[in-house]
Amino acid sequence: MGYTPELKELAEKVAATREKRIAKRLAPKRIVAYREDKGPFRDIRDLTRVPGIDAEIFEAIKGQVSLTDEPGKTNVNTADAQELEKLDGIGYFKPMTMAERERVLKKFHPDYKDTGMRPLVVGVNRGERVPDEFADLIEAHSLLADAQIELGKPNYDVDVLVIGAGGAGASAALIAQEEGAKVLLVTKLRHGDSNTVMAEGGIQAADKPQDNPVIHFLDVVGGGHFSNDRELVAALTNDAPMVIEWLERLGVMFGKDAEGVMYTLHGGGTSRKRMHSAGDMTGAEIMRVLRDEIRNRPQIEVVEFSPVVELLLDDAGHCGGAVMKNMETGDFKIVRAKSTVIATGGIGRLHIQGFPTTNHYGATADGLILGYRVGVGLRFMDSIQYHPTGAAYPEQNIGLLITEKVRGLGAEPVNRDGEDFVFPKEPRDVESSALMRECLERGKGVLTPTGRHGVWLDSPMIEIIQGPGTIQHELPAKYKQFMRHGIDISKEPMLVYPTLHYQNGGLAIKPDTSTQIPGLFAAGEVAGGIHGRNRLMGNSLLDITVFGRRAGIAAAKFARGAEVGELTLAHVERYERELKEAGVETDRTSPMILPDYRYKTG
Ligand SMILES: Cc1cc2nc3c(=O)[nH]c(=O)nc-3n(C[C@H](O)[C@H](O)[C@H](O)COP(=O)(O)OP(=O)(O)OC[C@H]3O[C@@H](n4cnc5c(N)ncnc54)[C@H](O)[C@@H]3O)c2cc1C
Repeated sequence: MGYTPELKELAEKVAATREKRIAKRLAPKRIVAYREDKGPFRDIRDLTRVPGIDAEIFEAIKGQVSLTDEPGKTNVNTADAQELEKLDGIGYFKPMTMAERERVLKKFHPDYKDTGMRPLVVGVNRGERVPDEFADLIEAHSLLADAQIELGKPNYDVDVLVIGAGGAGASAALIAQEEGAKVLLVTKLRHGDSNTVMAEGGIQAADKPQDNPVIHFLDVVGGGHFSNDRELVAALTNDAPMVIEWLERLGVMFGKDAEGVMYTLHGGGTSRKRMHSAGDMTGAEIMRVLRDEIRNRPQIEVVEFSPVVELLLDDAGHCGGAVMKNMETGDFKIVRAKSTVIATGGIGRLHIQGFPTTNHYGATADGLILGYRVGVGLRFMDSIQYHPTGAAYPEQNIGLLITEKVRGLGAEPVNRDGEDFVFPKEPRDVESSALMRECLERGKGVLTPTGRHGVWLDSPMIEIIQGPGTIQHELPAKYKQFMRHGIDISKEPMLVYPTLHYQNGGLAIKPDTSTQIPGLFAAGEVAGGIHGRNRLMGNSLLDITVFGRRAGIAAAKFARGAEVGELTLAHVERYERELKEAGVETDRTSPMILPDYRYKTG
């Protein structure tokens, strides 16, 4: 099929400017360096004392720098990571200043709109704004509101119940088992059907000599607009090198150079190359190994196609397990557990503000609903991540992810006139907003035959900058995904537009993943606070393994001393009363379990 003749004509404009754009990127630049805060640089080596300029970057730029005593001729003058981004962006479209970022976010990012969100009327976060689609599920009846369920005879009796078998749940189950717990891992679909298995670009960890967890910490907090929970970020970045080692020991095959050393790339908002990847199927590789490992440990029981529909509290208010529903028979099954880990992932299938999504079909916010009903608070639920580069063509690919690794390898967004218009490695929310501005305000986007907006992502640049064959080697899944529709992304650019990718917020947790309900833990995308208001690429695969492992440790430890009292669904009755008192009149039920794509009339 390929592009229509009209789109082909526009793609040729991209090809026409490609050589010039690449020449700009690769041409040596003169940087005039002057440092205002501590006086002029005296020696070129002073540059290495600017935080963010490591040995690698110094080597790359030193020949291009001349020093000056003249204030005003300043390219390198402050001691922050912003300057580093500028240096790393030499030859790219100029990165935005903080003020420019704020402006574009406020005008174009869906989170900043007045519409599409409303304050919750029930529960711990009453009064706080969340997306309408999510509020609809919070302000809905329990699936068990009218059910008669015998809680006294559990079908399963375990130490640790893990809900959700993506990367976070799998990590939690493995570690809890190693800590001596009897573990039950229940999941909604097949074991591994998850966002984790779809992850493409990579996982961050500061494990190279020019990097360290403190620099990683600063990047995470900067990317999150300084809103992140610092203790959670410290846990994330400190555990990261250990987690890479753990995954490799289990059998994950990260990309390595000829010397057998793991190679790393940049992602948006990273000041060091710390993205480890396995082609563009990093999540599939991680999930393959975690799932195999679980299947090789008979002490971990796995139950598939059995979504949890409600948590259970005991008479002391501790979490004592959950009710799950067999998707085939519709029967409810009771799990009694000394401790419980929620690891149910994200929210993409709610299609917030009508956006398409990169997420798998099970990403329907179930764990958030379960946790909220028993009284766990939510953080940053008004903050949703729209990935800048979702496929905008062909129609069969709409919303599917084009990994940030494509930009990491050298491709850049280009408008309908073949012009670059944004630094390709801005943090995701900023990059997305800039793409929307190009289409919606400047009218420089491309309209697809079905009326969708898009800009070009000039993937053929990768082959020129990195060498022929790079795309098939580094992005084999993307290559195949587009070839299937007659588009060779090593020769033709892709059409992209922001797509709903990730929920930045989630259930409130402490660094050990505990929630305010004793015996209840949460890990992975379902938890909030780590990434603040904007997650950087590669930090979620990291978060799910770091906090999944921590959840395994904490849940097993809690289970060792715990006794489960009488199981109750009293919190459901309380919640139903609250709905009534708040005047919520609805026949909606939640959790959603699966999205409903049936065509509806009226
Ligand atoms: C296309 C794509 C590409 C991505 N690429 C990257 C990347 O390169 N790097 C990066 O860091 N991050 C990436 N991410 C984000 C990252 O993959 C996810 O945030 C992360 O994997 C989530 O892991 P999780 O274990 O928390 O949830 P998931 O992996 O989604 O697992 C949740 C599991 O819980 C199950 N579940 C849901 N509800 C219930 C219920 N009621 N009862 C029982 N089970 C339930 C689900 O079926 C699923 O199996 C990507 C995401 C997507 C969608």
